Amino acid sequence: MNENITKRNELLAQKVIKGLESRNMKGYYAANKEEALAKALELIPTGASVTMGGAMSAHEIGLVEALKKGDYNFIDRDAAEDKRAAMLQAYDADFFLTSANAMTEDGVMVNIDGNANRVSAIAQGPKHVLVIVGMNKICVDADAAMKRARNVAAPINAQRFGLSTPCAKTGACMDCKSPDTICCQFLITRYSRHADRIHVILVNDVLGF
Ligand code: SF4
Repeated sequence: MNENITKRNELLAQKVIKGLESRNMKGYYAANKEEALAKALELIPTGASVTMGGAMSAHEIGLVEALKKGDYNFIDRDAAEDKRAAMLQAYDADFFLTSANAMTEDGVMVNIDGNANRVSAIAQGPKHVLVIVGMNKICVDADAAMKRARNVAAPINAQRFGLSTPCAKTGACMDCKSPDTICCQFLITRYSRHADRIHVILVNDVLGF
């Protein structure tokens, strides 16, 4: 990462971490993917049950691979024969891994979901939620974060999953009501009722979409 971008990210991350703390969430800064992986493995004790939803960033830092190889009860919904059962197990897991579609400089997370398994698990259920966020997803305020989620993250995800939505063709949100829309539920996480539940690792890198 360019040193000027790194300097800016270090400073910005401190602001985000303060914002998260004011919202009863924990934030950490990782200077690179390796530090992010080490921090995640420090937070997740061996033997923990772990599941995930929409966590491309967790793949990109090598966390999913490390958990699959390590001494953890990793619930792999993609590999499960009974996907519904695996999805329901997520609500009782020790850790739920995810990312955010966008996050504000003062620590508010924005997530959009089609099936809502991801946003519902962030909101309630798993004992801990571990969020891996590249600094590319930090936005100046809630309006910018929502615009990012709808005009950057959602169209790219629609293209990635081969969905028949207007944004998959145009690259921009058309506020559709397509049967394939991935914008069924919007979750704004502005405070965590439970201390030590939501942990966010901010990574000095470009991760996810
Ligand atoms: S509302 Fe429709 S067009 Fe807009 S991002 Fe979501 S799926 Fe794409």
